[in-house]
Amino acid sequence: MAYIDQEVRRLVGKALHQYRLIEDGDRIVVAVSGGKDSMLLLWLLRERLARAPIHYELVAVHVDPGFDTESAGRLEDFFRREGFRWEIVHTDHGPRAHGPENRENPCFLCSRLRRVELFKKANELHCGKLALGHNQDDFLETFFISVCYGAQVSTMLPRQEFFQGAVTVIRPLALVPSAKVDRLGRKLGLPVIPTCCPSAEHNKRKEMRTFLQELCARNPKVRGNIYHALSHVNLDYLPAPLEAPAGCSNLREYLKKEGGVPEDHGA
Ligand code: SF4
Repeated sequence: MAYIDQEVRRLVGKALHQYRLIEDGDRIVVAVSGGKDSMLLLWLLRERLARAPIHYELVAVHVDPGFDTESAGRLEDFFRREGFRWEIVHTDHGPRAHGPENRENPCFLCSRLRRVELFKKANELHCGKLALGHNQDDFLETFFISVCYGAQVSTMLPRQEFFQGAVTVIRPLALVPSAKVDRLGRKLGLPVIPTCCPSAEHNKRKEMRTFLQELCARNPKVRGNIYHALSHVNLDYLPAPLEAPAGCSNLREYLKKEGGVPEDHGA
């Protein structure tokens, strides 16, 4: 087996194990956009079924944003040809997000509406897990978007429970860099359905991607170091908010007094 096959499977296995992403008997909705990440995720999760000591069920769900009439059909052909169980949800999220009535960022509204549809489908199909194809670069990009535009230190989680645990979002590609997803997807000959979204090339994620590529080009260790830093936070050396109650000189003291529940920024 070539290096890239082994490496990506090793990283996916590590994420599944470290973050306890899949358990015996799980029914899992895999959100498939038609991009390289979700196509590879679906492929690898099914492939693991043959080797894993546990059993789980997969349903590929595509939420069609409604930009064109062909993409969903191409995905449907792929699912049918490869023997996946699938569901397509047709929506007008994309045009609505770019319409005059939307005053928010198109991606913000579009991804929020898509997430609602995915949760609805998971519930309808009695699936307790929702697998998303975010890769390691997505975690880093979300972190920098939160810092630069949201003025807070946060990103997405490899595993996160919603609705008192009724649905758990999992991200098995959390440890896999985007370039490796790309290489393995090409090697396996997985199709990628191009998006017709006008915001695809002009959004904050794209901006952060360029920034990270430049940063990581100088030293290949930077990408892994940033991901590692997300779970090695030295609260003693982060200042408390300016409006923190008296007596809180650093973030640890503030959090002890205030508590807090992280939001999910990535679905
Ligand atoms: S890039 Fe387009 S399809 Fe993707 S979240 Fe943004 S608006 Fe929606």
